[in-house]
Amino acid sequence: MIAPVLTIDLDAIVRNWRALDRLSGMAETGAAVKADAYGLGLEPVAGALFGAGCRHFFVATLDEGIALRAILPTAAIHILNGIQGDEGGEARAQGLIPCLNAPRQVTAWRQAGGGPCALQLDTGMARLGVQPGDLATLLRDEGETLAECGLIMSHLACADAPDHPQNAAQRLAFDGMIPLVKAVAPAARLSLAATGGTLLGRDYRYDLVRCGIGLYGGLPFADAEPVVTLTAPVIQIRDLPAGAPVGYGASWTATRPSRIATLPLGYADGFHRCLSSATSVWIEGRPAPLAGRVSMDLLTIDVTDHPGVTESTPIEIIGPNRGIDALATDAKTIGYEVLTALGTRYRRRYKDANRN
Ligand SMILES: *Cc1c(COP(=O)(O)O)cnc(C)c1O
Repeated sequence: MIAPVLTIDLDAIVRNWRALDRLSGMAETGAAVKADAYGLGLEPVAGALFGAGCRHFFVATLDEGIALRAILPTAAIHILNGIQGDEGGEARAQGLIPCLNAPRQVTAWRQAGGGPCALQLDTGMARLGVQPGDLATLLRDEGETLAECGLIMSHLACADAPDHPQNAAQRLAFDGMIPLVKAVAPAARLSLAATGGTLLGRDYRYDLVRCGIGLYGGLPFADAEPVVTLTAPVIQIRDLPAGAPVGYGASWTATRPSRIATLPLGYADGFHRCLSSATSVWIEGRPAPLAGRVSMDLLTIDVTDHPGVTESTPIEIIGPNRGIDALATDAKTIGYEVLTALGTRYRRRYKDANRN
């Protein structure tokens, strides 16, 4: 068994969804499954969430929506990036709900035939969404198109920082824009919160929350159950004298007689090169530091203090001793990027009580 094994606990994803759903009270809990369900596999993840009762899904692109439609024929599937160019016809044919982000997208949706849609408002993040100054004109010109808007949404920029004043500012901006849209789309529901906003409290949850990272075991949902474990085998072990260099650039040199083990994963597998000599892996509950540069397909670790290591010892890369956010901190990034970078070369195992 030479490939590293990535285990994805679908039951833990379902438990995280249920925990967020309980916390959301009256609001419905939708799931963000963009980017292949944060790298964990769209088909198994979306299937498990639908099985648990989740009915609202969010992807980024039309192609992701089409892939999800083939898996979930009846779910409400929202395309966060809206429709680009002439994508409207295909979105309509697939029964996908575009989040219309600009007056131009609303017009394109009408020209494609219109139908159920969402309207995204820019409440201060300046990324996607109709800006406040354009709203009145848009509603005047495209009121009929937007009569079919079933969801008025916006997105918080600072929800992982509960004390950040921008949270309340965005909520007030949202509240200010809602009545204008409701005047043409009285039945539309409201959505502002992703995982972070869901945790900010009731005022942020409105009718529907759109949780992603919390389902997958990441911060800011500190109570999330871990979802991912990654273990790798040792594929070579060597003993080196003091003074011997290891790896590209000879950037690490043994300061004592050392034992170095090579593992079959590297930056092409999402183990970022900036982690070179900057993190540890875990062996039977104790850390073993990286030695030298991470290569594309390999990394080397110092197992001098782990005399029991053999080529059959499983090495913990992500697991109970070091979760995705701790690894992210060492890589100066966030858990989201650790997950979405995981790559396609791991042998994937899905834990699912209903399937296995
Ligand atoms: C990605 C995304 C979400 C989910 O965010 P998490 O922080 O992962 O919960 C929700 N809404 C929008 C608009 C997004 O882009």
